[in-house]
Amino acid sequence: MTQWFVNPFFVGYFDGDTSVISLTSAPDTATFSIYEPEHPLRGVTDTLGLLQSIPRMGQDDVELLKESGIISEMPFDRERMVKDQLAANHDPEWLRLTIIPTLNCNFSCPYCGQRHCGQPAMGSSVYESVSRLISRKIGQGVRNVHIMLFGGEPLLLTRHWMPWLRQWRRHCAEAGVLFAAKATTNGYLLRDASVVDQVLDSGCTEFQITLDGVEAQHNLTRPSRRGGATHGAVVAALRNLALHPGMTSCTIRINHNRTTVTPFAVNAFLRDVVDITGKDDRFWIHHHRAADLGGTLSEELPYDEFAAIMPSLRRLTHDYGLKLMRDFYPGDRSCSASSRNSLVVMPDGGLAKCTAVLNDPRNHVGHLREDGEIEFNSEFEKWVNPTLAGHCESCVHLPQCRGGSCPLASISSKPNCPAKLLDFSYLALKECTGPHK
Ligand code: SF4
Ligand code: SF4
Repeated sequence: MTQWFVNPFFVGYFDGDTSVISLTSAPDTATFSIYEPEHPLRGVTDTLGLLQSIPRMGQDDVELLKESGIISEMPFDRERMVKDQLAANHDPEWLRLTIIPTLNCNFSCPYCGQRHCGQPAMGSSVYESVSRLISRKIGQGVRNVHIMLFGGEPLLLTRHWMPWLRQWRRHCAEAGVLFAAKATTNGYLLRDASVVDQVLDSGCTEFQITLDGVEAQHNLTRPSRRGGATHGAVVAALRNLALHPGMTSCTIRINHNRTTVTPFAVNAFLRDVVDITGKDDRFWIHHHRAADLGGTLSEELPYDEFAAIMPSLRRLTHDYGLKLMRDFYPGDRSCSASSRNSLVVMPDGGLAKCTAVLNDPRNHVGHLREDGEIEFNSEFEKWVNPTLAGHCESCVHLPQCRGGSCPLASISSKPNCPAKLLDFSYLALKECTGPHK
């Protein structure tokens, strides 16, 4: 009889709908959609069950599991796989640039620690240097360029960056390189459908917009710079995006505090989202814990309390037919700041890693030269060299977190483990502990 081993970093998830099981076999990912009610994998709740169900599987299913690296006749080399997980975080074919056109903002959210007033705009010489950096990186083998527009509020300066975005997209297309761009925006200016048209036309088709609960709650934590209500504008922006066929994805983030996590508040929020997006599957919900980023946050929800509430937030979101921000694929819980190929470009050409602490000197990791070359200082390595805790090597979530869930927390000697937020109740298959016959 064949002795089978299960990939120690293999996890199967019910992705909302229990008719679909996603199987991840990091660092590569295989996804199966299983609809047959009698399929041997459907009733499996752990990897021992998976091994026991192999004899009942057809040869095709066994071959599929083998080809996907989920089972093998040879023991898996765990040590090498841990190294592969960590290396996957620094894939040299990727370049992720977060561009900060300005730190100015038209909102004044109490939890935000950024200084917004009178901040300079990114000059055209810095955009030019970014162009040269992209060219250099493509010459060195980059095959995927992902631009993230961040701020401040990046849409205050669309007239500055849209022409460059077009140029970078064209350059990537000519070189046969994949290009995508995303804006993390408060959404206010997208209430105007013509702005939505222009932004999408320039190549920015992905968005993250915060809607902090129902109207009264959102207006409390997301006021305009002059203290005015912004809920109506953000809702109008989301409706505009839902109507546009060119929009590829939009994450709706809610920053939870004690008020927003009550069952009444969560139900009301999710009902609003269904009404706004019509369950359009390009929208994703991101339940986030509001953290004090140096601003004035009165009701911070402790991490452990939020982790305990997370399973019910997930269930409710699924019950409303909405999609949750994905967090179960390899790298999904790893912060981009932990990757060597991910950089934040400040308005003056300075380079940073973490978008949450742009003023922190530990976050100033170098400078982008005019010729597009990067000069790093000694801070850079601290962000991209995670020290794994002993238990990480046997953690089923290592493929998702890669030890890089929050390099800032690690640098601050308070390592952050996202496992508490990764709810096991929607796991279909869990980690295997050894070989079985
Ligand atoms: S930090 Fe937490 S989630 Fe990440 S590998 Fe370590 S134990 Fe697992
Ligand atoms: S390093 Fe931590 S705080 Fe900074 S962006 Fe990443 S997860 Fe957020």
